[in-house]
Amino acid sequence: METILVVDDTKTNLNILIELLGDSYDIIAAISGEMALEIIEEEKVDLILLDIMMPCMDGFEVCAKLKNNPKTKDIPIIFITAKIDEESIEKAYDIGGSDYVTKPFKPKELQARVKRELELIKLQNELQLLASTDPMTNLYNRRYFTKISEHIMDLAIRKDESLSVLMLDIDKFKSINDTYGHQIGDEVIISLANELQEHQRKSDIVCRFGGEEFVILLPNTLLDGAQILAQKMRQSVEENILKIKDYTLSFTVSIGVAQIDIKTEKNIEKALNRADKALYKAKNNGRNQVCIS
Ligand SMILES: [Mg+2]
Repeated sequence: METILVVDDTKTNLNILIELLGDSYDIIAAISGEMALEIIEEEKVDLILLDIMMPCMDGFEVCAKLKNNPKTKDIPIIFITAKIDEESIEKAYDIGGSDYVTKPFKPKELQARVKRELELIKLQNELQLLASTDPMTNLYNRRYFTKISEHIMDLAIRKDESLSVLMLDIDKFKSINDTYGHQIGDEVIISLANELQEHQRKSDIVCRFGGEEFVILLPNTLLDGAQILAQKMRQSVEENILKIKDYTLSFTVSIGVAQIDIKTEKNIEKALNRADKALYKAKNNGRNQVCIS
């Protein structure tokens, strides 16, 4: 059930909203703007219904505060108010309101608008997820990796923590495709993705970088630790016997490992290049091995 925060300084109005929406949603009620801001710090809220005319802090002020806070700026706000002058309506949209309902409202209309607003948010989240994941493996894609690696770099620098990266590539993938066909090739990629996810720790970011190439970001991990993890992954891939359709096959991976120098490096690019070079070395040394940079 989605959670709706209803804010109004009149108790009767709050009760009407609870009555109207309480069967379909979790409702949290706030009797003032200040109270609404306190609640939003503690609770996960999907939508806010906000009265405008309230003593001390009016709805506009509450809305402006929420829209200025990165944590709450994406929560949609529907104003519910007796104010019907054009200026108020304009202001409500200008400061970031999603919708504007005037009192007295028709119950059906309010229910429909609430429903539509929540559906929009759900759709937006789904789109965001689609844009950040690789549809074949459900791993993060390169685009998301670029974005998230910036955040993780920032965090590592602030906390003065180590950060390492693995670059991993399926050995002789072309010959797998040539021998068994692309469909089996895809299954091999999916099985590797599952294998990597089994070995990843909670904070690791596993990403399909493209084709048969994967990158794993390892927060709070030194080069040694990253190397051990890479060896475990390499070994478990080697030992994994796949049965796909009529075929029984196994495959191997090569992995390049690098640590990011958080004291001197501003982004992950250089470390990625080092990991890539280490991967190249692993391939040249005969594949199915881990090389560090
Ligand atoms: Mg009021």
